[in-house]
Amino acid sequence: MDKEFDVVIIGGGPAGLTAAIYASRANLRTILFEGSKDIGGQLVLTTEVENYPGFPEGILGPELMKKMREQAKKFGSQILSEDVTRADFSRKPYSVETGKSKIKAKSVIIATGARTRWLGLESEKKLIGRGISSCATCDGAFYKNKDIFVIGGGDSAMEEALFLTRFAKSITVVHRRDKLKASKIMQDRAFKNNKIKFAWDSEVSEILGKERVSGIKIKNIKTKKVTELKGEGVFIAIGHIPNSEIFKDLEKDKNGYLVVKNSIFTSKPGVFVSGDVQDHIYKQAITAAGLGCMAAIEAEKYLEINK
Ligand code: NDP
Repeated sequence: MDKEFDVVIIGGGPAGLTAAIYASRANLRTILFEGSKDIGGQLVLTTEVENYPGFPEGILGPELMKKMREQAKKFGSQILSEDVTRADFSRKPYSVETGKSKIKAKSVIIATGARTRWLGLESEKKLIGRGISSCATCDGAFYKNKDIFVIGGGDSAMEEALFLTRFAKSITVVHRRDKLKASKIMQDRAFKNNKIKFAWDSEVSEILGKERVSGIKIKNIKTKKVTELKGEGVFIAIGHIPNSEIFKDLEKDKNGYLVVKNSIFTSKPGVFVSGDVQDHIYKQAITAAGLGCMAAIEAEKYLEINK
């Protein structure tokens, strides 16, 4: 395929799909590349979404993404399950390539999101998928009546730990501080659950096990004491890394987040950014969707002037 589109959207999470709904509803020729795995972005790896307005009973993350995708298609967005490997903003029309397609773009909305941050231990690399996971929804059911660990102190870690109480015998949350970063409501739920214990001020120094996880070694950063704990699963929930590597022409901060002005603008005219690839503060489905909406409206204005 070698065609020109008014709006090329890279990323199929809430930011990208909302941008697609707005752009295609404005009668702009819109194509969205949703990638080839974890289609729908990070929300397909979560369980219940309780804080997306309009769903007082909550909605499952994958279900919410399915509905957004249907809505984008309804207005005429083309959606391809391909990974964008190259984006060239050095000359107009811009170009966006996947292994299979090369598309010319009058405007581009980047909504590539973020991915799991791993601890970076050698022992972790060996055991990912053999007792180490970053997705309780995907892998929780393998840990019925097992003793397991969740690493991290944010909302993700609490959400993972609470979900895992459905299966596991015990969950030890290992956190490097003496208090959590998670929101009060999530903290309260975790503290109330008697399956969840906490190892405070502790860093994981090694994940133990040859073929599969058999435990972890943690080091108390105040006392320097090292303790070995037995357990069969480790869920890593220490945050995310923005998927910004392919955007060589755009400015990034020291953590790789794309730098934007006035929420969504880049230094390249007609190239906008929305969602977790630029937002390291709010990172919510609703804020991503809001930024996607803003990007599409600005793309529409830009195309009006630059026909
Ligand atoms: P956060 O950045 O909020 O938290 C990451 C946690 O991991 C922090 O406690 C951090 O420690 C710890 N951490 C980071 N790096 C390391 C490391 N190398 N080793 C050990 N620990 C580490 O990320 P989350 O993914 O939890 O949340 C991201 C955003 O998504 C937040 O805004 C959150 O509110 C939101 N969210 C909301 C949910 C909900 O409302 N249901 C569910 C999930 C996420 P430290 O505290 O020391 O920095």
